Amino acid sequence: MNARKNPPPAGAAGPSIFEDTMAEMTYPEVEAAIGRGAIALWSMGVIEQHGPHLPTGTDVYIPSARLRAVKRLLAAEGIESIIIPPFYWGVNFVSASFPASIKVRAEVMIELVVDVIKSMAADGVRRLFCISGHNDRAHNEAIFQAMCKGSAGSAAQACFICEEAILRRLGIDLGHACVMPFSVPPEAPPAPFLDIHAGEWETSVMLAFNPDVVRQDTARGLPPTNLGPDDLAEWRKGFEVSRRVTPGGYFGDPAAATAERGRRSIEREAAAIVQGLKHRLA
Ligand SMILES: [Zn+2]
Repeated sequence: MNARKNPPPAGAAGPSIFEDTMAEMTYPEVEAAIGRGAIALWSMGVIEQHGPHLPTGTDVYIPSARLRAVKRLLAAEGIESIIIPPFYWGVNFVSASFPASIKVRAEVMIELVVDVIKSMAADGVRRLFCISGHNDRAHNEAIFQAMCKGSAGSAAQACFICEEAILRRLGIDLGHACVMPFSVPPEAPPAPFLDIHAGEWETSVMLAFNPDVVRQDTARGLPPTNLGPDDLAEWRKGFEVSRRVTPGGYFGDPAAATAERGRRSIEREAAAIVQGLKHRLA
């Protein structure tokens, strides 16, 4: 494949969401990769407001960067993979009262994902792994249901690679065949305030991989939200309630973001995912 720079230097144009995916391959290349037993990787994002400093495609860019890193690490282990172009018509609940947070019904998302899984299965893919780019409960429940429905009566086993904490919150059995739990040990002791949405973490990853679409001057001028677990519980009630808790559309400390932290975070997550995948594929 091509050798475009990833991550790009600060301020440079980052990779497109198609970079290193099947969308940049020809059909004989895809056919040959599947014939060699390549697994399929797919990220499930959403178009959603991410404050005044990050683009609405943030939850598509970030998991795309994560999967490119996973693909590289897998290749180094001799495991071939192809990345399906990212899904981006996910379910919005928390940010649903903001403009540009597209509201797609869970059943529509599920059926579309199932059709893609079945199509890939018909092409010969036997193992398909999805990751989420968006933490809305309903979005992740829809992914799980789509994995189960897409695997039923299909030649492909579809599996949701998901943070253990999220699976627990959703009440999904960690041993279910359609999930692969992973966790990344925290780098630092927990901060007094939470960083949940469009804050330090997401802004850091965007600065690392797609700095050209970050409004960096705006980000640097944003005050931290200084919100805690009670505010998070309120925020999760969705729609107008969320908008009242975070009128600026972000929950955390975007001004503290650094590209270095973003790069490290993606590397650590990708390494944890690849560890799990090696185990699962063995
Ligand atoms: Zn996000």
